Amino acid sequence: MSADSVFASIITIGDELLIGQTIDTNSAFIAQELNKIGVWVRRRVAVGDVYEDIKEALDEESRESQIIIITGGLGPTADDITKPLLCDYFGGKLVVNEEVLAHVKFLFEKIFRRPGPILERNLKQAEVPDNCTVLFNKNGTAPGMLFERDNKIFISLPGVPHEMKGLMTDEVIPKLLEAFTMPVIAHRTAFTAGQGESMIAELLKDFEPALPPNIKLAYLPSYGMVKLRLTAKGDNKTDLEKELNPYFDQMLLLVKEYLVSDEDKKMEEVIGGILKEQHKTLATAESCTGGYIAHLITSIPGSSSYFNGTVVSYANEVKRNVLGVLQETLDTHGAVSEETVIQMATGVRQKLNTDYALATSGIMGPDGGTDEKPVGTVWIAVANAEKTETLKLNLRFGRERNIQMTALHALNFLRKFMLTNG
Ligand code: AMP
Ligand code: MG
Repeated sequence: MSADSVFASIITIGDELLIGQTIDTNSAFIAQELNKIGVWVRRRVAVGDVYEDIKEALDEESRESQIIIITGGLGPTADDITKPLLCDYFGGKLVVNEEVLAHVKFLFEKIFRRPGPILERNLKQAEVPDNCTVLFNKNGTAPGMLFERDNKIFISLPGVPHEMKGLMTDEVIPKLLEAFTMPVIAHRTAFTAGQGESMIAELLKDFEPALPPNIKLAYLPSYGMVKLRLTAKGDNKTDLEKELNPYFDQMLLLVKEYLVSDEDKKMEEVIGGILKEQHKTLATAESCTGGYIAHLITSIPGSSSYFNGTVVSYANEVKRNVLGVLQETLDTHGAVSEETVIQMATGVRQKLNTDYALATSGIMGPDGGTDEKPVGTVWIAVANAEKTETLKLNLRFGRERNIQMTALHALNFLRKFMLTNG
């Protein structure tokens, strides 16, 4: 198969997906993995646990796509009909696969340790159509299946996300790379924060149209940040990277005021990197973010080497008794004030004995706002031994998003402070 022309469709199966009870995360993951190896995902379709609908989707998607990946409907319950359906569709007959059977027995006897004999419905998971290639699922009982017809590859994967992921990585991607000649793809991703997508696009308004046709720019915005990804397509990896790098550098220069990283990283990873490089430590005092910032920081492996801890000082009593915020300050300026966050930051830095401290206090909503301090008013302070800096935000979202935006802005503020005062 020639490069440049490998198309895929993803079909997700399950009534729960159609009614929105389960969010379809599988097709996003599969699409990302396919995209990485240069497969163009042309369609993602969701269908219910309905025989005719699944068949119709298979017919329709195999008309234009060479790769059809389906997930779901492989469970041991009656609503899961994918396996018998595939048997019919490809004219196979269900036979026991000994390797899968041994694995199912092993899981039930040694790992799940369910008392009593294995249920017939579980043993049946070791049955597969005799005309498919079995994709071994080390994380679960339902194997994946690969069928070939008219130079097209059909792959059925279980719906359970971590089982699907294991199969995609271990089995599907290597098999697709063997079966098709893919165009070579090179990606480089930069990460900006503190400015919206439209403003970033303004900075790149002359850059983007001047890109050659094989290089594309994608904007990937999320809370308070925008990732910018350049993707180049070609035949040779080294040449492609050589071609891509100068454009990437040019782009970095254009957005340099808002640039956080020239790699695809999370903000909390960038923060960890700076702290490690400076051999410095951090503590947080969180009122309105309730420990969320600490959660982000500690989600990075190795964070124990630079993060000492947090004080979730939600009540004024904790601000006063643990962090040493003065009652007078709380009375005069309120809990959401510049004066209070400064004392929270300096207090937690001393209490937890760190180089840096970050503090947040704000009104996340939906209640608690006043004319003077409406919902979305947030004060942030960062401190080291020499100085303290503050930032005020006026957010305008719902509670959950206000918390996420506060965390992102606070971390970005800390990042800049550390880079100038480190
Ligand atoms: P199934 O293979 O249909 O028995 O699905 C097993 C489990 O995976 C169920 O809890 C489903 O809700 C879940 N699941 C199925 N399809 C998806 C999907 N596309 N994204 C996320 N979860 C899914
Ligand atoms: Mg299902």
